Amino acid sequence: MDDPADSSSRRDVMKGTVAALVMADSQSSFGAPPRPKTALLLDPLYMQHETGPGHPERPERYAALTEAFTQAGLTKSLSHISPRFATEDEVAACHSHVYIEKVKREIASGARELSTGDTTVSAKSFDVALQATGGILNAVDAVMDGKAGNAFCAVRPPGHHARPEQGMGFCIFNSIAIAARYAQKKHGVGKVLIADWDVHHGNGTQDIFYEDGSVFFFSTHQSPWYPGTGRTDETGQGKGKGCTMNCPFPAGSGRAEIFGAFRKKLALAADSFKPDLVMISAGFDSRLNDPLGQFTLSDPDFVELTKVMLEIAGKHASGRLVSVLEGGYNLSGLASAATAHVKALAQA
Ligand SMILES: [Zn+2]
Repeated sequence: MDDPADSSSRRDVMKGTVAALVMADSQSSFGAPPRPKTALLLDPLYMQHETGPGHPERPERYAALTEAFTQAGLTKSLSHISPRFATEDEVAACHSHVYIEKVKREIASGARELSTGDTTVSAKSFDVALQATGGILNAVDAVMDGKAGNAFCAVRPPGHHARPEQGMGFCIFNSIAIAARYAQKKHGVGKVLIADWDVHHGNGTQDIFYEDGSVFFFSTHQSPWYPGTGRTDETGQGKGKGCTMNCPFPAGSGRAEIFGAFRKKLALAADSFKPDLVMISAGFDSRLNDPLGQFTLSDPDFVELTKVMLEIAGKHASGRLVSVLEGGYNLSGLASAATAHVKALAQA
């Protein structure tokens, strides 16, 4: 049976217009247009969030990533996403205005740590955090508008521990959660799947969507471990019942447990949830030899996890996938794992 688009282009050809000939030629001889490139958000401004000597979440993480991406040719071969400031209204999709004002006030007054928890800040942290979130919103625009096939957002500070009223765990604003809400509001996306392979449970993301139902949150994480949440019986409430799935594993877990959970549990859950947009909280502290975790994932394992996510995105969301950096504190490990992840995204 003829594809309707082919039939209509053939009819146009019969009218003899040049435009129709071009269209027919592109459809019959060359097939579908090439998939837009993977896009990369990478900007030195994200080094301006200073955390002081000895802090694991440090600007050097960013320098290591930039060097590795450059050496791998990714900064040249991929398209680029520009940072921008998220507006306070955009951030308020997931955080109260009271909390946003508190963060702004404390940082302006020279605080070295947020009063809400273990999050070190410096003079530029408020602006950098807003631009981490805003850059991810630009990535969502690029993917939703078809300008990028998928995207990786290398940002600091991380976000997945940030709760509606509480920054914690090095996180100020929950950028991936804000981006999911933004995709729904700005682009009319119905359902978003967020998968979190950071070694720590993404408690903030879970809290934000726990009673929601339009965002499915999946997490593999070390347990017992910081922040202490993420039990298997935390599955959502009300409209969100069944839309949170936690897979805690003991220290020493690796490919068998984590890839197994993604391959089986997440893929099955995605088949029933049917997301319109897929997002990854890509923490690389689940890699072997991270100082803040005891999982044993290797760089090839992150490639396999990426492929699972690409498959889900391809099956349900026309390939739309936005990946966001969270943790990862062994500099060389972070750099090599993130490079493997981005290369896999680019080969989709
Ligand atoms: Zn982490």
